[in-house]
Amino acid sequence: MSSKWSILKKYSMYIMGKVLNFLLPARCIVTGDIVESTEMISAEAWAQLDFLSAPFCAKCGVPFQVLDNDVEDALICTYCLDTPPFYDKARAALRYDDGSRGLVLAYKHGDKTHMAIPFSLWMANAGQELLDGADLIVPVPLHWKRLITRRYNQAALLAQCLSRKTKIPVDTTSFKRTKSTRPQGHMNMKERCKNVGSAFSVPDVNKNIFEGKNIVLVDDVFTTGATANECAKVLLASGARSVNVLSVARTVYI
Ligand SMILES: [Zn+2]
Repeated sequence: MSSKWSILKKYSMYIMGKVLNFLLPARCIVTGDIVESTEMISAEAWAQLDFLSAPFCAKCGVPFQVLDNDVEDALICTYCLDTPPFYDKARAALRYDDGSRGLVLAYKHGDKTHMAIPFSLWMANAGQELLDGADLIVPVPLHWKRLITRRYNQAALLAQCLSRKTKIPVDTTSFKRTKSTRPQGHMNMKERCKNVGSAFSVPDVNKNIFEGKNIVLVDDVFTTGATANECAKVLLASGARSVNVLSVARTVYI
């Protein structure tokens, strides 16, 4: 009897899903075209995305503008040579440009949180090397005031999706943003470094959580790397063995 009810329930949910899909079809968050499921984007939006690939800086992951693919694996960009970052490596799935900006901003500011699922799959692909040796996934934290206004931490949702996919544990609460920093959209590198200075901390009671751990720090967009670098500095000072950085998209200056 119970199996009959179970089959009937599944069948009813299937029919309801079909009806709902007919009445309210899933739409691409960039173009508005009808797509098969809410996590998908249209072919037109997909064609605009620039997935990053080698050759790139072994440290920060910025792609090199060279036609020859035969570039040394360990080549490091001039910026990382001049100012070595605290993190080991940073990788991103997409170039942050006109093709990806709408998608990322709709996720970050437009409540399109379901996009964390495909984003995390793209990040897992781009950051496989980083995730292979990771003990813990940690998102860049939001200050509690920003969390109230935005209602969700976009980096934490990505970290949770990545954790579900990779089975690597995630910790979304032990690493804190204790200073409410100003939005960094129009700041240069120097201003960003100043803005995020002393913005993050690990309460003493949480320090054993990061001790000896290889951490993958997750964020939505890697711009100058100032935020990621400050986070890495604090996590290393709290005993982390290494910090690598993985984001959905990154700006490319060179
Ligand atoms: Zn670099």
